[in-house]
Formats: sequence, C-alpha cells, structure tokens
Amino acid sequence: MDKKYGVYICEGCGIGEALDIEKLIEVPKEKGFSVKTSPILCSIEGLEILNKDIADESVNTLVIAACSRRVLYDVFRFDGCIVDRVNLREQVVWSHPRTKYPAPTEEQKDDEEFIDHVQMMAEDYLRMGMAKVEKIDLPEPYKLETLSRKILVIGGGITGITAAIDAAKLGYDVTIVEKESALGGHAKRWRKQLPGPYVFDSLIPPTIESKIEELKNYSRITVKTDTVVARIAGQPGAFTVTFKKPGEKIEFDVPFPLPDEMKFDENGKELDAEKVHERFLEYNKGRRDILTIDPDGELFGAVILAAGWRPYQPEEGEFAHLGFGEIPDVVTNSQFE
Ligand code: SF4
Repeated sequence: MDKKYGVYICEGCGIGEALDIEKLIEVPKEKGFSVKTSPILCSIEGLEILNKDIADESVNTLVIAACSRRVLYDVFRFDGCIVDRVNLREQVVWSHPRTKYPAPTEEQKDDEEFIDHVQMMAEDYLRMGMAKVEKIDLPEPYKLETLSRKILVIGGGITGITAAIDAAKLGYDVTIVEKESALGGHAKRWRKQLPGPYVFDSLIPPTIESKIEELKNYSRITVKTDTVVARIAGQPGAFTVTFKKPGEKIEFDVPFPLPDEMKFDENGKELDAEKVHERFLEYNKGRRDILTIDPDGELFGAVILAAGWRPYQPEEGEFAHLGFGEIPDVVTNSQFE
C-alpha cells in the first residue's frame, strides 16, 4: 500500500482553548505530513474535510488528533484506510486542565528555556500517532489455497437432513453420512411428534418421511449410508475426512489417548514422556499418527455435527411438581413411545 498521510486536529471540546494549535501544526509539517484543523472534527463539516481528502487527494493513512478512540469509533472509521486516533482531549487537555497547569504567559512564550508541559505532551502524542501509522500495514485476509465449499453433515436424522437441505438451498454441495442403512434416525421411530409451526394444539404425524422425500430433490446433496467418520484432520475451510464402514478398523482411525493407569510402571512410578509416548504408539498400533493426513480423504470446508441425540433423562424429583416420578401415567414422550 502506498501511504498518503493526513493529520487532522480537532479544536473542539476545549482542545483549541488549552493548546497552541498553530504550534501543534508544526509537528506534522516538520515531517512533511499534510495537516488540517477543524473547530469540530466530528461535525458534518469536519467529516467532509476527511472524506474529501480520502476521495480527492487519495489520503489513506489518517492521524486524527481529537478525543479518545473509545468514542466515535464508528464516525472515524474509513474502510480501506489506516486510522489512528491521538487522544488530545482526555489524555492531555481534560486530565491536565489549565487551571492546574497554566498556559504560558507572553513572556514565557519568548523564553526558550520555558517548557509548557501540556503542549509538549500533546506534541509528543501526535508524534507517537504519526510514528504508529508509519509502521502499520492493513491486514490482508489469509486465503487457503485448498479452500473447499463442500459441507459435511454427520448424522442423517431430522437435524442433519434439515441442515443439509438448508445448506443446499444456499448453493453448497453437501454430503450426509449416516451410520445406519437408511436416513431418519430416531425421528423415524416416533409415532407422533411435537408441532413445529403454529397451531400448537396437538401432536402431529412425524415429518421425517416428507423431509427425506424433499432431500431427494437436491442434486447437490450426496447421501452416504452405512458410513461413519473415522477421522477429521485439517482446519476450517480444509478438513480432510476419512470415511469407513461401521465397525471397520482402519489405519486412519483416530488414535485413543493412553489411559492414565498405563502411564505408570509396575511399581506405581510415573513414566517419563518418552516411555509414555512409546506406550501410546504400542496402544494405538495400526493407527496412523493424528497429524497424518489421509491422502485418499475427502475435502470439506465445514462440518456439521448432527448426530448423537439422546432422550432427556430427568433427575430424580426434577419434575415432581408435574407429577413425573410420582404418578405412573406421567411419562416423557420417549417413554411413551
Ligand atoms: S467529540 Fe471529539 S471530534 Fe468531536 S469536537 Fe470533541 S474532540 Fe472533537
């Protein structure tokens, strides 16, 4: 980025009264930075100065000497530009009032030995802001070379199917993996289900079959039944996924962590790291190291986990106020099924 600098000094909120703005302007001028002032930089007129410089003068690196960066951050935000805020208001003028640190008299102004600490502080902060923007570069997005837009949905129940349909509607290629030989999951075993949309006055017939039918309309969705995920490696945008048949043992199965009891010798002494690693390798014999990427794996950009639904198991007495556990006929819907 070829930087074009602009320094903008606000005189509002007491800054102009407390500081010698003419002297302050000399700081950026010494460095050859263009500098402008405004009685109220956050006003429409003040912002116009900034926007005009960005549009007409190609200014892209701005130092705004006004108030704290914690306020008006949305006002002084210019996309594609480097912006730093120098806090003259809170850090200089308001915290060092002239009632306590008087402005120099005419005589003191002519005295080269005299130091106006408030003015000096403002000038130093401005120098720091200018030095900072010289060192800043706009961040560049990190783009993966192997970025995949395919989505993997693990679980072919109602949640997985719904997720897959929604993703396909948005234009993504989706693969659903289901460990059973057919889609549907638990929902397929329900006799009735709770209503989704209004009216909520009675149970409705299961919607799973119609969802499975709907799924068939999307050519973007691939269904893999009798399949489970052995391993997912990589990172968001580039996950390498290894599939396998349920129960199958393959080299790309995820290695298990070593159980705690195996980290000690026969005398109960803790093993050193090297020995623990040896045992770990032995324990996971036949499985590839977790960092090894399966060359035959399939690439996905994102994974949706929609498996593992379990009926809720209420604690003892949890719903006693509703009669659950007290009255035999009060049961959960899964118990009822
Ligand atoms: S709020 Fe900030 S930008 Fe607005 S006048 Fe006060 S110091 Fe200047």
